[in-house]
Amino acid sequence: MAGLLAVGAVLERLYTGTVWGEGPVWLRGTSRLRWSDVPGDRILEYDARTGGTSVYATGVEYVNGRTVDLRGDVVQCSHGRRRVERDAGGRVTGIVDRWAGGRFNSPNDVVVAADGAVWFTDPPYGIHESGREGHPGEPDYGGCFVFRYDERTGVAEPVVTDMVHPNGLAFSPDESVLFVSDTGHLQVHGAPAHIRAYDVAGDRCTAGRVVAEVRPGATDGLRVDDRGRIWSSSADSVQVLSPAGEVLQRIPVPEVVSNLCFGGDDGTDLYVTATTSLYRIRTTARAASRPSARPSA
Ligand code: MG
Repeated sequence: MAGLLAVGAVLERLYTGTVWGEGPVWLRGTSRLRWSDVPGDRILEYDARTGGTSVYATGVEYVNGRTVDLRGDVVQCSHGRRRVERDAGGRVTGIVDRWAGGRFNSPNDVVVAADGAVWFTDPPYGIHESGREGHPGEPDYGGCFVFRYDERTGVAEPVVTDMVHPNGLAFSPDESVLFVSDTGHLQVHGAPAHIRAYDVAGDRCTAGRVVAEVRPGATDGLRVDDRGRIWSSSADSVQVLSPAGEVLQRIPVPEVVSNLCFGGDDGTDLYVTATTSLYRIRTTARAASRPSARPSA
């Protein structure tokens, strides 16, 4: 489908050297793309002004997905600490690390809603016995849920409990729908990986449905653009799906894709983390912005 990519757009490889790159986020104030090398236990930054990449931090307790909050600070998931935390100018503090008396498995990816609430997925990859992406450990609550945490009240509640390994997540532009990918559907059941859409009512999710099966491989990180289209990772590409799940575009990528985000000064550059490398391609879309800047009371 014409029109989703900028005229003459090509996939550029910006950096190679991660073991498993993940968790990209665009930092508007510094024009940098920050992302994780989860097994490498470090955080990298690509400087779009210079084209250079530098190590932001090491020994970070297996940080994975991240986003920015209403103030522009980074909110990130730590497998090693089994928590969601905030990096405010290099000062890292915990946000939430337990529910109902137990620890989370290993929070994987996170979004912040317009009301400031933190929504995140909690699959078990960071407590796997291999120790590749965290510290071997036991699940405490016996499931893999999506949680919503309200920092104003200090209350965490599960919002999605019917997925195998919920992983990437993103809201529709008006935050009426939450899209969540399930890597476990493939890895545990051998069934096609899929993305589910849940209707959102306030602080809860109601009806959920499969909106797309994604082939090949698993769908991990995803983002929604300002027209509601889903930009999803797959094994061999980025796939752009309509809100109803129809494939509109495939962008081939030469390594297995983990995650992606929009960035650049005008917000239309698509950054893609794919195994050892960071890629970029120019598009005509941009990330959905929060429906209104409803700051925390
Ligand atoms: Mg992920």
